Formats: sequence, C-alpha cells, structure tokens
Amino acid sequence: MATVPQDSGLKVVEDATCTFCGCVCDDIDLTVEDNKIVAAKRACVLGKAWFFNHEIEDRPSCLIRGKAAELSAGIEEAARILTEARYPLIYGLSDTTSESQRVAVGIADWVGANVDTTTSVCHGPSGMAFQGVGEVTCSLGEVRNRGDLIIFWGSNPAESHPRHFTKYSLMPKGMFLPNGRKDRTCVIVDVRQTKSVKAADIFIQVKPRKDFEGLWTLRALAQGIELDAQLVEEETGQPLSVWQDLMDRMKAARFGVIFFGMGLTMTRGKHANSEALLALTRDMNRYTRFVCKPNRGHGNVTGADNVVAWRTGFPFGVNLARGYPRFNPGEYTAADVLARGEADAAMILASDPMANFSQPARDHLKTIPYIALDPKETPTTRHAAVAFTVATYGINVPGTVYRMDDVPIRLRPAFDSPHPSDFDILSGIQDRVKEILNSKQTPTVIRPSLRPEDQ
Ligand code: SF4
Repeated sequence: MATVPQDSGLKVVEDATCTFCGCVCDDIDLTVEDNKIVAAKRACVLGKAWFFNHEIEDRPSCLIRGKAAELSAGIEEAARILTEARYPLIYGLSDTTSESQRVAVGIADWVGANVDTTTSVCHGPSGMAFQGVGEVTCSLGEVRNRGDLIIFWGSNPAESHPRHFTKYSLMPKGMFLPNGRKDRTCVIVDVRQTKSVKAADIFIQVKPRKDFEGLWTLRALAQGIELDAQLVEEETGQPLSVWQDLMDRMKAARFGVIFFGMGLTMTRGKHANSEALLALTRDMNRYTRFVCKPNRGHGNVTGADNVVAWRTGFPFGVNLARGYPRFNPGEYTAADVLARGEADAAMILASDPMANFSQPARDHLKTIPYIALDPKETPTTRHAAVAFTVATYGINVPGTVYRMDDVPIRLRPAFDSPHPSDFDILSGIQDRVKEILNSKQTPTVIRPSLRPEDQ
C-alpha cells in the first residue's frame, strides 16, 4: 500500500517491511513524525527496536582517512584502492538490498576480487550441503497453510525470529489447518532448554555436539534398520524409544517441516550435520511430504546467497582473481583470507568484521586500505580508509530483499535520508573502476600475418 499522509502531521506507511531478521515481515504499519518512527504496528520486540532506534547519523556522508570529503572524491579513492590492489576482498552484503548486492558482485568481477558474505559465518555449511544433497523445500506460506508437524532443530525462533511462530509456523490457521495451533505438533530438538521450548509439544534434548548422531539415528529408523538401543542412548543422550516416537510422528504427518539453525550448522559436524538433515528430509518424502529450511538471521542474507549464486554460480566464498569463479570455503572465505594476511585491500558492505572476526583477521584488516559502507559508525567504519555513511535499506531506501524462504519482497521506505544509498555509491565506484581499467588496457595489436585477409 502507498504512503498515507494524515492531517495530524504524522505520516503512516502501511505494509512496510522489517528487515531486521530473515522473517522479513511485510505487514508493519509505521507512523512517522519528523523523520522519526514513533509507532510500528505488528512489529515484534526486535522489529520495534530496529525501527525506533533508527537515527540519521549526524556525520559526513564521506570520510577519507577520517576527514570529511566530497562523495566524488570518496568514490575516486575507493576505485583507486580497488583497482591498484593485487588481492582485493569484498565482504558483507547481507544487510542491504539485492540491487546493491548485484553491483558489489559486479565490482568484484571487474577487479578480480574475492567476494564473500556473512553466510560464511552462519549458514555457510548449509550452503555447502545444498550443493551435495539438494534441498526439498517450500515457501513459508505453504508451512502456514499445510505444516502439521513442525520441527525446530538447533534453532531458537522465540528469541531470534519472534514472529516466526505467530505469522508462519505454529499459530496461524491455515487452509488445511482450520484450528491453527491445535492442528499442529511442534517438536524442538536442541542441546539446551531454550525459550522456544515453552511453545513445543515435545522437547528432545540431544547431547551437545551429537546432532549428527541424532539425525543418522532418524535416517536409520526411516529405513527400518535395527539399532543397538544402548549405543543410541549413549551417543545421542536420548533413548531409542524417543527417536522411534519422533520417526513415527514424522511418517504419520501430512506435511512435515524442519527448520534448522546455527545450533546445527556451527557445531561439531557443521556441513555434515546440514547434509544429514537435508538427506533425512529427502528420505521422508518416501512416506509423506516433508520439507526443510534454514532459519536465516540477517534481513537479506538469503538475498546475498541468491545474488552471489546467480552471478557466480556459488553462494559465498568465491574467488574471481582468474577471471572465472572458484569456490572454496576455508580458502576464499573472508575471515580466513584476512587471518592468513592475504588480502591487500577490501571493501566492507553493511557488516562489522572489526567487531566480530578473529584477532588475526582484525589485525590484518587494520593494516590494509579498505572502504566501508554502513548507515552507522562502527569499529569497521572507524578504521576505514574511505567510509561512506549511507541511508538505511527498508527505512530510507527502496529495493528488494529475499525472505528466508527465497521469496523476494519489495521494500516500502518510510522517509528520505540526507545520506546517499549504498546502491548509488557502489554504482559510482563500479563506473569509475570500469573507466580506470579500460584506460589501462593495452590496445590489441593485430600482426599483419594474422589479418583475416592475409590468412
Ligand atoms: S520477526 Fe523479524 S522481520 Fe518480523 S518484525 Fe520481528 S524482527 Fe522484524
């Protein structure tokens, strides 16, 4: 819906989109007064904090080595840094629009950079597993209308995605679930009793670092393989009867769903855990309809995966130095490239590696010239050779983001920002990079003997 001006001087933006988490709720009614969001109807506690804490930064849109500069000078310096580097790194991308992500990957392609996103530090193992096993999946709309057995594995949506239960997975009445929550069974598998457990019918507490064993127990039971009950309990922390009961429920479900989180992908086993879960989901389709989906954190991290994949063929950790994409997590992922001291320049987009990368990675980042684009001041922007303060996506800037189920959603911004969008800055850098590289190109010399008419 369009923006509706009110007589009171307040502006109401209906059906605005919250980009704080991967649920990307697009039914928020925002009330704006003097470029400040004063009400956010239907937003959860995290969404409200995202909207209410939004402030236009009172600082220059461009700083070059800490000094205020014209945007054009910043773009020029950024293009110079990237084109003079031998091993540039482009990192972040998850908290901006897919339009900006596309330009960032374009720049990486032009300068032969290593491009990586925050996926490498959250669901990177799932990104690897998808390529090995595939993904049986569906939209969150299907979950809402059909899902009668909902399993959360290593995921705590009550705290990380507060509207997940009410908008998509547990509470809503669906086309085939007229009684909403009463028609669904919720199972939580985790190593600890999280806040989400209160919402579950069944809680299975698996031994820490033993998710892989739990998943393979279920895979074996799906195949009807007889298991040693004592060994299963020793390995998983739960008796075989608990796993058998879960398998019986999974087989009996009409539409089963497994949502999985970083409790699975970032613990022992990593991509092997994700592979086991994807394979289990595939196995279950012999009996009934079963799907799975990672619960994604950042607002447009799913967009980052999509954009990097459609432009390079791989979802994250891609090296373009040879003029074609190479994918190798561990070798081409940003945290590793920096910790090994390999990159000699970087561009960080909507991310704060100075606050959350390892000490060796941060130490190296401090020694190289890099460009940072962020709506707010962060430890990363503070050390940047060129720092751009940009408008916030979703609140000030329109564009597209991908919900965690790969559904693209348009943004309806609430008000303008005096700062430029990162899309405009990146487009300017890309144009200047192309000009610099084209001017450096040696003209092709056609030797007389190779002229077509001489052959
Ligand atoms: S669930 Fe996520 S996207 Fe929805 S309002 Fe809360 S923080 Fe925003």
